[in-house]
Amino acid sequence: MVITTQCCIAGGGPAGLMLGYLLARSGIEVIVLERVTSVKLV
Ligand SMILES: Cc1cc2nc3c(=O)[nH]c(=O)nc-3n(C[C@H](O)[C@H](O)[C@H](O)COP(=O)(O)OP(=O)(O)OC[C@H]3O[C@@H](n4cnc5c(N)ncnc54)[C@H](O)[C@@H]3O)c2cc1C
Repeated sequence: MVITTQCCIAGGGPAGLMLGYLLARSGIEVIVLERVTSVKLV
Protein backbone atom coordinates (compact mmCIF):
# COMPACT_ATOMS: atom_id res chain seq x y z
CA MET A 1 0.00 0.00 0.00
CA VAL A 2 1.32 3.44 -0.89
CA ILE A 3 0.18 6.53 1.01
CA THR A 4 1.14 9.96 -0.23
CA THR A 5 1.21 12.90 2.16
CA GLN A 6 3.01 16.17 2.76
CA CYS A 7 4.10 15.28 6.28
CA CYS A 8 4.44 11.98 8.12
CA ILE A 9 4.77 11.95 11.92
CA ALA A 10 6.11 8.81 13.62
CA GLY A 11 4.44 8.40 17.01
CA GLY A 12 0.94 9.20 18.20
CA GLY A 13 1.87 10.36 21.70
CA PRO A 14 0.91 13.81 22.99
CA ALA A 15 3.65 15.52 20.96
CA GLY A 16 2.90 13.69 17.71
CA LEU A 17 -0.85 14.16 17.98
CA MET A 18 -0.56 17.86 18.82
CA LEU A 19 1.87 18.44 15.97
CA GLY A 20 -0.42 16.55 13.61
CA TYR A 21 -3.40 18.60 14.75
CA LEU A 22 -1.59 21.93 14.35
CA LEU A 23 -0.24 21.03 10.91
CA ALA A 24 -3.64 19.78 9.72
CA ARG A 25 -5.28 22.94 11.04
CA SER A 26 -2.76 24.94 9.00
CA GLY A 27 -3.82 23.13 5.87
CA ILE A 28 -0.90 20.73 5.64
CA GLU A 29 -1.73 17.18 4.66
CA VAL A 30 -0.44 15.05 7.53
CA ILE A 31 -0.53 11.46 8.68
CA VAL A 32 0.36 10.23 12.17
CA LEU A 33 1.73 6.69 12.45
CA GLU A 34 1.49 4.86 15.78
CA ARG A 35 3.11 1.47 16.31
CA VAL A 36 0.96 0.50 19.30
CA THR A 37 -2.41 -0.83 18.22
CA SER A 38 -4.11 -1.14 21.60
CA VAL A 39 -4.91 1.28 24.39
CA LYS A 40 -3.86 0.28 27.90
CA LEU A 41 -5.82 1.99 30.66
CA VAL A 42 -3.83 2.43 33.88
C1 LIG B 1 5.16 5.56 33.87
C2 LIG B 1 4.87 6.96 33.37
C3 LIG B 1 3.84 7.69 33.94
C4 LIG B 1 3.57 9.00 33.51
N1 LIG B 1 2.53 9.68 34.08
C5 LIG B 1 2.26 10.92 33.67
C6 LIG B 1 1.16 11.64 34.24
O1 LIG B 1 0.45 11.15 35.13
N2 LIG B 1 0.91 12.90 33.80
C7 LIG B 1 1.67 13.48 32.82
O2 LIG B 1 1.40 14.63 32.45
N3 LIG B 1 2.71 12.82 32.27
C8 LIG B 1 3.03 11.57 32.66
N4 LIG B 1 4.09 10.90 32.12
C9 LIG B 1 4.91 11.59 31.10
C10 LIG B 1 4.23 11.51 29.74
O3 LIG B 1 3.90 10.16 29.45
C11 LIG B 1 5.21 12.02 28.72
O4 LIG B 1 5.69 13.31 29.05
C12 LIG B 1 4.55 12.13 27.34
O5 LIG B 1 3.91 10.91 27.01
C13 LIG B 1 5.59 12.45 26.28
O6 LIG B 1 4.90 12.55 25.05
P1 LIG B 1 5.61 12.29 23.69
O7 LIG B 1 4.57 12.47 22.62
O8 LIG B 1 6.85 13.10 23.58
O9 LIG B 1 6.13 10.78 23.73
P2 LIG B 1 5.30 9.44 23.92
O10 LIG B 1 4.09 9.62 24.76
O11 LIG B 1 6.33 8.42 24.35
O12 LIG B 1 4.79 9.08 22.46
C14 LIG B 1 5.63 8.52 21.49
C15 LIG B 1 4.75 7.57 20.67
O13 LIG B 1 5.49 7.16 19.53
C16 LIG B 1 5.25 5.80 19.31
N5 LIG B 1 6.37 5.34 18.51
C17 LIG B 1 7.66 5.22 18.89
N6 LIG B 1 8.42 4.78 17.88
C18 LIG B 1 7.57 4.63 16.82
C19 LIG B 1 7.75 4.19 15.48
N7 LIG B 1 8.96 3.83 15.01
N8 LIG B 1 6.69 4.13 14.66
C20 LIG B 1 5.45 4.48 15.13
N9 LIG B 1 5.21 4.91 16.38
C21 LIG B 1 6.28 4.97 17.22
C22 LIG B 1 5.13 5.19 20.67
O14 LIG B 1 4.41 4.00 20.65
C23 LIG B 1 4.39 6.30 21.42
O15 LIG B 1 2.99 6.12 21.37
C24 LIG B 1 4.37 9.60 32.51
C25 LIG B 1 5.42 8.85 31.92
C26 LIG B 1 5.68 7.55 32.35
C27 LIG B 1 6.80 6.74 31.71
